[in-house]
Amino acid sequence: MGKIQLLSDTLASQGAAGEVVERPASVVKELIENSIDAGSRNIEIRVRRGGISSIQIADDGCGMDKTDALMCLERHATSKLRESSDLESILTMGFRGEALPSIASVSKFRLTTRETNALEGTEILINGGKLISVKEAGEAPGTQIEARSLFYNMPARRKFLRTENTEFSHIEHQVRVHAIAHPRIRFSLVHNERTVFHLPATESLFERVRGLVGNELAMRLLEIRPQERHGIKISGFIGKPGVSRSNRSLQMIFLNRRPVEGAMLQYALREGYHTALMKGQQAVTFLFLEMDPRKVDVNVHPAKREVRFHDGNTLKAIVADVVAETLEQRESSSPNTVQETAKPAEPVAPFEVPEEEDLRQETLIPEVEQQALRKDWSPLLATDAPPEPASAEEVVRQPDKELIETPPEPVAAQVPKPSDFRILGVIGKLYVLMENTQGLVMMDQHAAHERILFEQMRSRMETEGVPTQALLMPVTIEMTPKDFDLVREHVGTLQKLGIGAEVFGANTLKIDSLPTFVSESDSNRFINDVLEELPRDTGRMSSVRLGEDMVATTVCRHAVKANDDLHPKELAKLLEDLLGCELPFCCPHGRPTLVQISFKELEKKFGRVV
Ligand code: ADP
Ligand code: MG
Repeated sequence: MGKIQLLSDTLASQGAAGEVVERPASVVKELIENSIDAGSRNIEIRVRRGGISSIQIADDGCGMDKTDALMCLERHATSKLRESSDLESILTMGFRGEALPSIASVSKFRLTTRETNALEGTEILINGGKLISVKEAGEAPGTQIEARSLFYNMPARRKFLRTENTEFSHIEHQVRVHAIAHPRIRFSLVHNERTVFHLPATESLFERVRGLVGNELAMRLLEIRPQERHGIKISGFIGKPGVSRSNRSLQMIFLNRRPVEGAMLQYALREGYHTALMKGQQAVTFLFLEMDPRKVDVNVHPAKREVRFHDGNTLKAIVADVVAETLEQRESSSPNTVQETAKPAEPVAPFEVPEEEDLRQETLIPEVEQQALRKDWSPLLATDAPPEPASAEEVVRQPDKELIETPPEPVAAQVPKPSDFRILGVIGKLYVLMENTQGLVMMDQHAAHERILFEQMRSRMETEGVPTQALLMPVTIEMTPKDFDLVREHVGTLQKLGIGAEVFGANTLKIDSLPTFVSESDSNRFINDVLEELPRDTGRMSSVRLGEDMVATTVCRHAVKANDDLHPKELAKLLEDLLGCELPFCCPHGRPTLVQISFKELEKKFGRVV
């Protein structure tokens, strides 16, 4: 029975225009989506030479009869939409009926398909959009598609393809993303006849994630308590504080199981992580959002990557809050405790998608160091990021055997120990020069001190409160009724921060003690700063987060003894305290505390290597 129908002209033009096929990974993406929509339980992807030479995908989904098989290659033929009102509530991955004809028009294309109970199947060959043959075929039920020699008939497009290695990384990323979205589907990926990964079906998202990212990183994830707010369901896993990557390859967000991207969601994550994420680093998330499909528009991007939310602000606030709350709960919700006994899933090769955008990341680190940071410093940055593959072979260099037999690559480098460094001296009264096995290390004394104090303050706030000293002369402050209301609400937080504040008549606050590290002469400025920060921070965050913000933005600023001459012993102590911090590699404002210049970098500078 023919399931596929041509879209009406109007509906067809409602589909966002644009090319579906940009690169081999887009083909893989479209084909996987079709296999998912077809209800497949097994999806096998085999590619050669980064997908440029060939992409094959086989599924065990519903398959197509002969009429549908022919029809699906017509532009705007889809079985998933009938009327334009359907566009408002799309739950299938595909809906425009553009992918197959587009792919078939730029490759040597072979489709074989058979419906589950049909006696025979159909094989269709197309070259560059031209139908070559239609035959009966006897392959297994399901659909097999092969696209060879991508862009062979479009030399200009072919030129834009990157190296096989880069193209393959994009493919791998697509497969991973869809595999995370659908743990119940078995996925395997083979490149140049080598198994890159093979993921058995599982009921558990955590198992799937672990199967893909390895045990080490999986153990550093926190589970989001599944919940619903304002009609939006949210669940999944996010990296603990300090777990990050230099690019977004592990920042996965799904909306109704469709992978989505977008500045708004990235902003929400950043907001949620706050100081738990270093500037320029990207959060690791496997975040699942579910909402009424009518409340989002998925039809705004040709590759359907970006979506438009009708109520973006609410969503942003929910994501930020849930992330912040998950980070606060920390240990209690760690999957470690639940999953400790579970057997690690099959190991995988280290992975990292070399995204072009990553080079443009926002950071305060100068370009030279940025490179050094990215390449040689990943251990010091504790980003979990394995070095990016340097050569075309690297991604697949590991032989199959190794992939199957060895435990997962330890993705995270350990935080270094003080004994890893030899302190050489201080320059500019600020930068501590040190040596380690990789080369030269510089520590920003000021930033390091801020980080140490920040963490000390925070832990004290959580436990006994901050030590305070009574002011000789209590300060009274008159405020506008609006500010006063706000402050009154947060008197408890102020007290936890070591600020002895109490209500003193209408719209007046009395402060009779301050944290010990604030000098008497500085007290007025300190109080002003705090009161200025308060309204800015209260709107969005919980009180713990508010406390953190206050510590970060005001308390530290007043506490740090900048440009102090430190004795060698004090320097050693500073380093030791810093490395003992939860997030030693950046100050609470996200600036780096340690910068490495590798021997390689030095050799380059001295012209010893090119
Ligand atoms: P869309 O996914 O937007 O509908 P496509 O061009 O990707 O458009 O696919 C066209 C149609 O072909 C689909 O609507 C579906 O009916 C059919 N189809 C494609 N791939 C498969 C598959 N792997 N198994 C079963 N049917 C498929
Ligand atoms: Mg499709």
